[in-house]
Amino acid sequence: MTLPELESDLAALGEKKFRAGQLYDWLHVKRALSFAECSNLPKTLISRLGEEYEIRRASVKRKLESKLDGTIKYLFEFPDGERCETVMMSYRHGNSLCISTQVGCKMGCSFCASTKAGYVRDLLPSEMLLQIYESERDSGRKVESLVLMGIGEPLDNYDNVMRFLTLLSSEKGRNMSLRHVSLSTCGIVPRIRELAELGLGLTLSVSLHAPTDEKRSAIMPVNKRYGTAELIDACRYYFDRTGRRISFEFALISGVNDDAQTAKELIRLLKPVSPCHVNLIPVNEIREREYSRSGRVREFQKLLTDGGINATVRRTLGADINAACGQLRRENLAEN
Ligand code: SF4
Repeated sequence: MTLPELESDLAALGEKKFRAGQLYDWLHVKRALSFAECSNLPKTLISRLGEEYEIRRASVKRKLESKLDGTIKYLFEFPDGERCETVMMSYRHGNSLCISTQVGCKMGCSFCASTKAGYVRDLLPSEMLLQIYESERDSGRKVESLVLMGIGEPLDNYDNVMRFLTLLSSEKGRNMSLRHVSLSTCGIVPRIRELAELGLGLTLSVSLHAPTDEKRSAIMPVNKRYGTAELIDACRYYFDRTGRRISFEFALISGVNDDAQTAKELIRLLKPVSPCHVNLIPVNEIREREYSRSGRVREFQKLLTDGGINATVRRTLGADINAACGQLRRENLAEN
């Protein structure tokens, strides 16, 4: 619940407005696990809250910690038994958390383990927030930046994600600046335009992975609905409205999209949305697919930078714990 919603609920219980502020502080700042801990609330209110509301939690079903770089991968379980993955990464500039927005995914990208078992349900705003709170509590680390890049397509769960962002950035709550949040989409064009109108200051990250309709539609079914020209137009619109440079994710797959011709086509496609940034990802090998990691990552990067497109190679974190999204949940489904 947002603070104004809590104020209105407590008003209906005959409580003064400041009580809602106290409760909100217990939930989002002090992180109480039960109403009984809220020591500055009257006992009568604590017992009413206990009767009518609950403070939900997500339990750590599995936890893998990398010995190489301290990356932690969590498999969280919600009260209905559904599970999602969350990854905590530590960088020199602080800790970054990658959260999931859905249980499974409908989008069907052919290189992704998250979509293999299909879509189950959307995550609620509270369940996105819980991934932050539970991983902070468990790891003892504070999350400084957030990426919505785990399991699920955030713009396919638009209303819940927007509500989550409101809670996340609420001054009296977790108070995270949305400038520290990146939202990754496979390219749901109308939602990108809607997001641009909100001017939230988020970084928009687009999973591109191929520069032509023919190649992109072959690995990302969403491209059959919203083609590359339409997608780049929407990205340009986002940049014009928000002034935020778009980041394009490009997973390099050996023999599929790592050749000089692809680099040339990519440069041509991205010119209208420059200055932008390309994040080259050495694709994770997943058991169920036949893709393998490209050995031409540096060469491809040079072709892009020579062509005037800023490109970096994403550092691989958690290599020893299988940290690519969807793999832990999928392994767990297979074991059960
Ligand atoms: S890459 Fe993202 S949008 Fe595509 S199937 Fe995986 S989780 Fe869904």
